[in-house]
Amino acid sequence: MNGKKVILISVDGMRPDGLVACGNEYVGVLKEKAYYTLDARTVTPSVTLPCHMSLFHSVPPQRHGIITNIYTPMVRPLNGLFEQLANAGSVNAMYYGWENIRDVARPGSLKFSEYIHSYSEEYSDESLTKRAISRIRESKPDFVFLYMVETDEKGGHDNGWMSAEYLRRISCAVDNIKTVVEECSGEYTIIITADHGGHDRDHGSEMAEDMLIPNFYIGDDFQPGKQFHGGSILDIAPTIAKIMGITPAPEWEGMPTI
Ligand SMILES: [Zn+2]
Repeated sequence: MNGKKVILISVDGMRPDGLVACGNEYVGVLKEKAYYTLDARTVTPSVTLPCHMSLFHSVPPQRHGIITNIYTPMVRPLNGLFEQLANAGSVNAMYYGWENIRDVARPGSLKFSEYIHSYSEEYSDESLTKRAISRIRESKPDFVFLYMVETDEKGGHDNGWMSAEYLRRISCAVDNIKTVVEECSGEYTIIITADHGGHDRDHGSEMAEDMLIPNFYIGDDFQPGKQFHGGSILDIAPTIAKIMGITPAPEWEGMPTI
């Protein structure tokens, strides 16, 4: 791979207004460093696996066919970001705390992968982030996907979206993001997003609270400190392909943000 390296961070269930309201001072730093939107849209149903399949395959659930949190093979298979990257020789890594998400990458497309059950004693978004960073230091993978789950499970579902505990969990995620940015920016372009938002103790609807997501892009290709409006979760894979200099799959429907 001669292209640039990318770290993609997905903070499950992180609403843009939750990010703004979480009280962590580093959110202001992220806004200064990033080209960003606070009103990008995810896809319906606004549910974790369908949204992440759309993130990585740049098509809506109506096309990839995964409409619940249980993976089923696609009737009309298409390559996602992991497969396109692997075909181009990229070394890919994935760190995650929710097992269902493993199917965003087909077998053969990952060189490094670590899953820890999010309700096990050794799991925290922070410990997962540290493991990802130690792998990054050691092996310098070309592409790293870091998926944090506590905002959704232990914040939104257990306590309610926009509750004090939900906002505290977002602030913890921002601390982890800070660690990644401080350790890896420069060498890596860093992209921060979420799969969906939430309301009450649930998500999955077409309400704005569920549908709006943040996208932050920190790297040489992006103007720092500039907010844009709109955008789609489908745009993230084409943007990463462009940053890394690989060809998008012909079926992808999103547009690069650069
Ligand atoms: Zn989710």
